[in-house]
Amino acid sequence: MKAILDHIGIAVSDLPASLKFFRDELGLHVEASEEITSQKVRAHFLSTGTSSLELLEATAPDSPIARYLDKRGPGLHHVALRVEDIDAALAHLKARGVRLIDERPRPGAEGAMVAFIHPSAAHGVLVELKQPAPRVPLFKTPVRHTLGSVELITLSDGFFRLDGGAMFGVVPRTFWEKRLPPDDANRIWLGMRPLIVRDGSTTLLIDAGCGDKMDAKSAAIYQLDRTYHLDHSLAEAGLSAADIDIVLASHLHFDHVGGFTAIGKDGNVVPRFPNAKYVVHRGEWDDATHPHERNRASYLQENFVPLEDAGVLTLVDEGAEVMPGVTLRRSGGHTANHQVVMIESEGRTAVFAADMYPTSVHVPDPWIMGYDLYPMDTLAFKRAFAREAIEREHLVYFEHDPSLAAGYIREKDGKRSVERVI
Ligand SMILES: [Zn+2]
Ligand SMILES: [Zn+2]
Repeated sequence: MKAILDHIGIAVSDLPASLKFFRDELGLHVEASEEITSQKVRAHFLSTGTSSLELLEATAPDSPIARYLDKRGPGLHHVALRVEDIDAALAHLKARGVRLIDERPRPGAEGAMVAFIHPSAAHGVLVELKQPAPRVPLFKTPVRHTLGSVELITLSDGFFRLDGGAMFGVVPRTFWEKRLPPDDANRIWLGMRPLIVRDGSTTLLIDAGCGDKMDAKSAAIYQLDRTYHLDHSLAEAGLSAADIDIVLASHLHFDHVGGFTAIGKDGNVVPRFPNAKYVVHRGEWDDATHPHERNRASYLQENFVPLEDAGVLTLVDEGAEVMPGVTLRRSGGHTANHQVVMIESEGRTAVFAADMYPTSVHVPDPWIMGYDLYPMDTLAFKRAFAREAIEREHLVYFEHDPSLAAGYIREKDGKRSVERVI
């Protein structure tokens, strides 16, 4: 069980006098004050770097803090430890016979879930476990958008987490952490959001998330959350796997094409979409089937080799038109033949940016992932692409953004931003 000191609770009987010391004499900054009505207490948080002091003031004579003050007077009240999964932490302690005050988590301050361990089990210390509220709203609902005469539907195959530093390459953490707050292991939440493109006759799926073949060890490393996944998302959009005519890969990394195949009834890996042809760029296919030490962990053969065996694979070259108005465009950079997908209808353009712009936070040109094999190629492509996307108002889909599915890139006084559409 991994736990990090979150705050130390101090019971106070005279708040103005306490603030005079902690705020005025020690110079600590009051970050937040909140009344927790269920506990009849008001909490004042003073920042002390990565943790804080919580001054606890009773708001009624029968509050637990008032009773504590009657019995013991003001002073140290509890120690709060931050855990990632409070249910797992409680189950772990229960299994070891640790006496708990709360067997189930209950709501605490700032949207957190909390539970207390009995002081008799903790050598006289009241210990609070706290799972903070997720700071990034995770976006998963399918949303339809009409582009000229085609329909675009953004889907979800769940969420995972990757190292924030690796996601932003040379950009220091202080610049990106406010936009995509990291967890205690420095990982940030990412979505997996495949896209449907439909006209009157064809249903195309671009990428398919990581699918369900990942083993438990890898799922834990990536903190995979597929409680809601592509099947749920397709069903909610009124579709099923059998409705997909064409499946297209931006590139063959596992978080994009793991969902291309699934384990069949006899235990063999088979194509996941029974009526679809699968379209992959020829150069990307060659690289993925001949991996080296740097990209081997991302190119998992079971995600794409069975497509060739089943005879459903079509290899195409740069600029290929996959269905009317939908073309591949090589961005390179992330992999030598990474493709973005251009979708054009009646003078409007949408772009599935895949790992060229993994999130909307990656829109500034030098904000390039450390994972990219050829970052200078990414930079060259981004420079030219951004100009075009701003001038022509392309609707850009951000496949890995946890909370923003698509938007327009705007530029004002040299500063770029993304105007949310979905
Ligand atoms: Zn990738
Ligand atoms: Zn990716």
